[in-house]
Amino acid sequence: MTIDELLRVSVPNGWFVPVTPGTKFVTLGGAVANDVHGKNHHLAGTFGRYVRRLRLARSDSEIVEVSPEQQPELFAATVGGLGLTGIIVDLELKLLQIASSYLEVETLPMANTDDFFHLSAESEKWPYTVAWVDCFATGATIGRGLYMRGRPLDDSAFDAHPRPSIAVPFTAPSVILNPLTIRSFNAFYRRMATHDGLVRVHYDKFFYPLDAVGSWNRLYGARGFYQFQCVVPMAQGGDVVRQLLQTAAEARQGSFLVVLKTFGNLPSPGILSFPHEGVTLSLDFPNKGNDTSKLLARLNAIAIDAGGRIYPAKDATMTAAQFQSSYPRWQEVERCRDAAIMSDFWRRVTGRISQ
Ligand SMILES: Cc1cc2nc3c(=O)[nH]c(=O)nc-3n(C[C@H](O)[C@H](O)[C@H](O)COP(=O)(O)OP(=O)(O)OC[C@H]3O[C@@H](n4cnc5c(N)ncnc54)[C@H](O)[C@@H]3O)c2cc1C
Repeated sequence: MTIDELLRVSVPNGWFVPVTPGTKFVTLGGAVANDVHGKNHHLAGTFGRYVRRLRLARSDSEIVEVSPEQQPELFAATVGGLGLTGIIVDLELKLLQIASSYLEVETLPMANTDDFFHLSAESEKWPYTVAWVDCFATGATIGRGLYMRGRPLDDSAFDAHPRPSIAVPFTAPSVILNPLTIRSFNAFYRRMATHDGLVRVHYDKFFYPLDAVGSWNRLYGARGFYQFQCVVPMAQGGDVVRQLLQTAAEARQGSFLVVLKTFGNLPSPGILSFPHEGVTLSLDFPNKGNDTSKLLARLNAIAIDAGGRIYPAKDATMTAAQFQSSYPRWQEVERCRDAAIMSDFWRRVTGRISQ
């Protein structure tokens, strides 16, 4: 079942997912397997915190029931476990009661990263916060963008989301997303700061803006794109985020989905769960072959040298040494891995293939 399917049933009855990623087109099994986070991480933590129990199909046994009480080791290996411990066939999830399918949302301009940290501290009590950053800003304006914060309304409207109305019909030529078009998009987007206070927004528009355009990934052309997402400890957060954004801007590869957010201190239940307290930055880059690989290697090194880590869900380039130093308990997952399950990611980061 996808979050899309779940919300169609649950929202009209007054319930929402407790944590949601930036697309509703993910399955509940996938949400557990990456222990996903959302705009409310600072107050709610990760998806896995709301899973009461799940059932796992493993190649060496009957279906096993797993919960934090019954099989704590296998539960911790499965949440964020990238599907390596077996196939999740069903799960029991604690939902969030809502009094409306709408939120009140404020969009504020940020001049730089200092504004981001200032607004994040000021917005600690807002349940949902996230920032979008203009990747072309450099120097004193690094971190220029928009800060969005939202909180639930209680106006008793319970309409579920509509189906996507437009879709990218074919894979675009790779020139469509170039520094010029991304720069224009960024300038246009920055003007969206409302300045006029709170606006009533449906959850679909607030949580899933990309879902409105079906198959948006085709805009990146036939070679596709890479995403980079890291989290770094708050103490060095400002400097590291500025260094990462400067490195990306200098590479002039353009990224129109640059997202910045603080993670709170609620513990994630999975051994390989990505979120931990700090600041997380995600960027996407059209695949330009070797130049993009070199840029990603630089970004990975900056984040990990600062005591951070890379999100396995988005990763295609992290080395075994980088993974093992930033996820030091990975062998506990290896011990729970279903012997019949393997992935290219796991081969790479556990050093089974030479790099
Ligand atoms: C537009 C977009 C926005 C996103 N925003 C966020 C975000 O804000 N926060 C965030 O945390 N993530 C985000 N993601 C990442 C996404 O939430 C995760 O990659 C999620 O795991 C995808 O789930 P899926 O069902 O599509 O699984 P897949 O992509 O098919 O698989 C992902 C992983 O889950 C495992 N898996 C899938 N189903 C099962 C199952 N039944 N049993 C066991 N393992 C399983 C697979 O083996 C694989 O390792 C985003 C992705 C996109 C495309």
